[in-house]
Amino acid sequence: MKVIKFGGSSLASAVQLQKVLNIVKDDASRKFVVVSAPGKRSGEDIKVTDLLINYYEKYLNNEATQKIVDKIVARYEDIMNELEMNKAVLSDIRHAITALSQLPKENNPHLFDAFLASGENNNAKLVAAYFKDQGLAAVYKNPQDLGIIVSDEPGNARILPSSYDKIAEFKNTEEIFVIPGFFGYTEAGDICTFSRGGSDITGSIVAAGVQADLYENFTDVDGIFVAHPGIVRQPKTIKALTYREMRELAYAGFAVLHDEALMPAYKAHIPVVIKNTNNPSHPGTLITTKRDTSSEPVVGIASDQNFANIYISKYLMNRELGFGRKVLQILEEMGLSYEHMPSGIDDISIILRERQLSPEIEEALIQKLDQVLKPDELRITRGLSMIMIVGEGMRQRIGVTADSTMALAENEINLEMINQGSSEVSIMFGIRKDQEKQAIRALYNTFFNK
Ligand code: ASP
Repeated sequence: MKVIKFGGSSLASAVQLQKVLNIVKDDASRKFVVVSAPGKRSGEDIKVTDLLINYYEKYLNNEATQKIVDKIVARYEDIMNELEMNKAVLSDIRHAITALSQLPKENNPHLFDAFLASGENNNAKLVAAYFKDQGLAAVYKNPQDLGIIVSDEPGNARILPSSYDKIAEFKNTEEIFVIPGFFGYTEAGDICTFSRGGSDITGSIVAAGVQADLYENFTDVDGIFVAHPGIVRQPKTIKALTYREMRELAYAGFAVLHDEALMPAYKAHIPVVIKNTNNPSHPGTLITTKRDTSSEPVVGIASDQNFANIYISKYLMNRELGFGRKVLQILEEMGLSYEHMPSGIDDISIILRERQLSPEIEEALIQKLDQVLKPDELRITRGLSMIMIVGEGMRQRIGVTADSTMALAENEINLEMINQGSSEVSIMFGIRKDQEKQAIRALYNTFFNK
C-alpha cells in the first residue's frame, strides 16, 4: 500500500487535477492521498497559502476582507467549474474561509495557523469530492480523525510519537483517504501547522504510521537533479540515493523535499520516491536506507553560499590542553553556531554562516580569540561557498578526492579548504563565491559527463 503526496503545483488547476486523478486511478494500492493547497498556475500567480497570509494580515489590521475572501474562494471555484463538478462542496469551502474572520484575535496563538491550514483543508475536501464524482471510493479525512496529534508549537509543530499507533489503525482502509497536508491538532484540539512547505511532513508521517510500502512524493520535476539545473545545463536526475546521501545534499541546498520530511519515513524504513505529476512514467528518484553503490561513487553535487572561515594557527597547538574547548566556548558565549571545523596539527578552521558576523561581532570575536588563545595567526575570510560532493560509494573508491582536486586545479579554482572530515558520505570544498559555478561545472563534468 502506498502513500502519495501532491504538491501545490500539481493541484493548481483543473488540468493538473485530472493528471492527479489518473495517477491515483492507475494504481489501486495508492490509498492515502495527501494534498497541499493550490499552488501557482504560472510564474506571476499567487499560491493560495500566500493569499491566506494576506487575508490574515487584513483581518488583523481591521481592513476589509471581502475582496481577498472572494479571491481565495475563486481559486477553488475556478477549478470546480473547469472540472464541471457538483458544487455542493463549494458552499462549504466559502463558509470555512469566511468563518476565519470570526475567530478571536486576542489570546489566540493558533490564529495564523488556522488561516494557513485552511488552504490544504479545503483543497482536500475539493479533491475528495472530485475523486468521488469520478467514481473512486474516496473520502476526505481530517488530520484529527486520523490521529495526527502534534506539539503545541504554532508554525513549527512536531508530531507526537503516540500519533503513529492511532494512524496505524487505518492501514487496511478500503476507501481512499484524501488528507490535507501541513497541519495537525494539539492535544487540546487547536490547529498547529508544520513549518512552511510542511505537507511533505504529513505525507511522511502518514507513510510511517500505516507502514506503507512506499511514500510517493509528486512534484513538478522528474526527480532530484545531480547538480543544480540553474548551474549545469540539463543535469541528469539521480536514480537512487540513500537517506544519508539525501540528508547531505539537502543540507547543501537541495530543496526538493522539506528538510524534516524524511525523518518519519527514515525511522520507519519506508522508501520514498520523488516523481513528476507532469511526467508520471519517469521513474523519478528513489530514496532508501541502502543502495548498491558499486557503479557510481558520487550521486550528487550541492553547494551553499555565504560562509566565513575563522582560521587559527598556533605552533604546538596539538599539545595545548583545552585549545578546542576554549575556541568553542568563546563561540558559544557569543551565541555563534558553527557548521564545520576541520583541523590540522597546528591549525583549526571554523566555518560558520557569514550572516552571524556583523562587523562589531567580528571585531569582538577576534579580540577575544586573540586574548584567550594567543595564536600565531588569526584571520577571518568571508565570501566562501561550500561545495559538497556526496556519495556512499566514495570511501571504497580510490581517487575521488584526487579527481575532484584535479578538476578544480585544471579550471584554476583556488581551494581555500577541503574537508573530508568524519562524514562517510561527503567531501567538502571551500572556495571563493565567484568561482562556485565554475567549480560545480568542473566537478559535474568529472563525475557525470565522462
Ligand atoms: N501550503 C503550504 C506552504 O505553502 C504547505 C505546503 O505546500 O507544503 O508552505
